[in-house]
Amino acid sequence: MRKKFIAGNWKMNMTASSAIDLVKALNEQIIAGGVAGSVDVAVCPPFVYLPAVIATLKGSPIAVGAQNCYLEASGAYTGEISPAMLKDIGCQFVILGHSERRHIMGETDEVINTKIKLALETGLNPIFCIGELLEEREANQTETVLERQIRQGLAGLTAEQMQKITVAYEPVWAIGTGKTATPGQAQEAHKFSRSILADLFGASVAANIRIQYGGSVKADNAAELLTQPDVDGALVGGASLKVGDFTAIILAGKPAGGGCGCGCSCGM
Ligand code: PEP
Repeated sequence: MRKKFIAGNWKMNMTASSAIDLVKALNEQIIAGGVAGSVDVAVCPPFVYLPAVIATLKGSPIAVGAQNCYLEASGAYTGEISPAMLKDIGCQFVILGHSERRHIMGETDEVINTKIKLALETGLNPIFCIGELLEEREANQTETVLERQIRQGLAGLTAEQMQKITVAYEPVWAIGTGKTATPGQAQEAHKFSRSILADLFGASVAANIRIQYGGSVKADNAAELLTQPDVDGALVGGASLKVGDFTAIILAGKPAGGGCGCGCSCGM
């Protein structure tokens, strides 16, 4: 069984003080809600707030990730941040292939693949985003797009490396629009993506890969999405900026029958 993983992508939002206030409150809520250990949680603040957020969350069950990194390890790349720098300050995750980077910054599948490989070599765990545009869905191209993004984005990775990756299915038409995929649409895309992962890395590796859904996940739609068999968590944008909303989404990921969420019988 795959433990649910809820991550918050803050995008280009927050101030230094609101970032600290948010993670302090979130940490308290998670402990009070009894989800520490049964749902994995991460926040992904803008680069400049990472050190303060990491320091504030020291000893907390909440992990910290970055929203991007560069594709070279070091050197004359003015304004860029390397995976090694992120690792050095205590980041565990990095979001790669987000649709805003694909479609606004022009990142290709090849660029994303290079970043994923370097992030893995550096010891970061990528959250690898895939997802189709509205016109691609309307032209029945969703599976073609997802398959291309998965095959090219993950090209050359070993099954062992793949175990460090979370995939996030984020239909572009659902990101920041308030239009969530139906639970059925999400399940269909996740199941299809897992079948491609199985083809690339083997069925048992694919069965253990967590696939998050992202795209206007809110407190009131999270539970239904998260009960789909292939939906293993959520990548949350707007709703991760409000402690009450993000906590509700995390609580929606709590395993129904109790337990730690990993499928063992520890009874936590
Ligand atoms: C995202 O940024 O990855 C995202 C899914 O945003 P939102 O939840 O705001 O749609």
